[in-house]
Order: sequence, then structure tokens, then C-alpha cells
Amino acid sequence: MVQVETVGHVVRITMSTRWSRAFGYSVSAFLTRGVLIDTGFPDVRADITAFLERTRPAGVILTHQHEDHAGNLAVVAQKNLPFSASPQTLAALRPAERAGLYRRIVWGTLQTPPESFPDFEHDAMALIHAPGHSDDHHVVWDADRETLFAADLFLGVKVRVARPGENPRLLIHSLRAAAALNPRVMFDSHRGLVTNPVWALNAKADWLEEMVAAIDTRIAAGGDDAAITREVLGTEDYVGYVSGGDLSKRNFVRAVRATLKSGESGAGIGE
Ligand SMILES: [Zn+2]
Repeated sequence: MVQVETVGHVVRITMSTRWSRAFGYSVSAFLTRGVLIDTGFPDVRADITAFLERTRPAGVILTHQHEDHAGNLAVVAQKNLPFSASPQTLAALRPAERAGLYRRIVWGTLQTPPESFPDFEHDAMALIHAPGHSDDHHVVWDADRETLFAADLFLGVKVRVARPGENPRLLIHSLRAAAALNPRVMFDSHRGLVTNPVWALNAKADWLEEMVAAIDTRIAAGGDDAAITREVLGTEDYVGYVSGGDLSKRNFVRAVRATLKSGESGAGIGE
């Protein structure tokens, strides 16, 4: 199912299926300046194909490798639309990452993108590296309109679960750097329009710093992941169980431990 809504100078395309809604998920792509940002997930392929035929965007910009964003790149290529994605994202998509069963049920199975495709560049919009959510995660910045397409950078202030491959320390850097762009308008791929974006980005960075510090202290004291998770983040909730641990509080603690040395001075947004 695809819902199309106009928010100021941006068209928000919200996609969901019966399955994704059962798990409480939808995801949005955005059309702005005739450019589509992200492509939705494989199970809405028919809807996205119809949308592309109807709107004929000048090109597509992809923020990162996850299947709810890169899920219809194959359709974009079939339509011979130029697209832009970072080398990290393209590398991650080839061969198509085999997502966990839970993710395949929610979103569908990802296709490998084509070997070659027409490259797309847009003067008004910059694809900026903002790692943390994933290594290849990017945001799209429209400087003239002071509008940030934050993809999965924000998601919410207090997100206690993480998926494998997240780096909370890098995420803090990226959030601060995005706030420093001073966006007036921000679109989140799951929440849509976020009011007061600079405050929201900094509030999330503040909260993450607190959580990471609390976890670091317990790791230094010799605590194990299970105990630290319980103490700092609480018991796993619904999503932790149904995802088989793919999206869990335990992953958050694991990610903090895994980045204990490497992550602290890691490269942040745009570096
Ligand atoms: Zn993502």
C-alpha cells in the first residue's frame, strides 16, 4: 500500500503492507525537486513501479543499503532512471545482503542492483555520509531550502534497540554534525516531518551519550551483556522477541562493547 501526501515542497510516499503493519512498520520515500529519495522495500514493488511511471522523476538518490530504502533499486534500473548511491552502499548491495528471516517477512527479499547504471547528480542536493545506523548511511541535504532528509539517522530520541552493524558512537558524531547544518525542516524515513529538528537531533545525541557512558562504566566494571542490558535499557520488548534478536536491546550493548576502542574517534558525518 502506498500513500502519497504533500508536505510543503516535499511529496512523502509512505509504504506498508499487511505484514509490515503487523510488525508496526512503514517507511517513506520522498520526492523533491523532481528527485526521488529512496525506493521503499521489495514487497511494494508494483506500487513503486506505478509511481515511477506516473511521476517520472529525473533521478533517484539512495541513502543506504537497508531493504526498506534500497528495496526497489532494480526497478529504478529497469526504468533506466539515473541514480546516485555511495560506493559503500553499492558495495554492500552486491551481492544482495541476506537479511534475517524477520526482515524478509516484514519487507520482502532484496534484489542485487545492476552492475552499471546511469549516474545521477543534482546541484541542489548533497549526499552526506552520516554513519552509525549503518556504515554506509547517508543523509540528503538541500542547503537552499535548509531541508534535511535524515533517512534513518534520527528515528526517535530514545531508541533502545539496535540491529547488527550499528555503531552508537559514530551515530552521536553524525547526529551532532547534522544538527550543525542547522536544518529548518527535517524528514525522517519512518516518522516523516520532525518538528524542531536541531533540538531533536541534539536531544538524541545527548541521550545516546548518556546510555553509552552508562554501558561503558558497567563494561569497565566487568559486567556481562545480559546484565548491562537489563540494568541500562530494561528487558527486551515485543520487537526484540519477534525479530529473533535482530532488532534488540542486547545488540545496543553489544555495539557499545564492540566499538569500545575503535569507535570513539571514528569518522563522523561528511568525513
Ligand atoms: Zn536503515
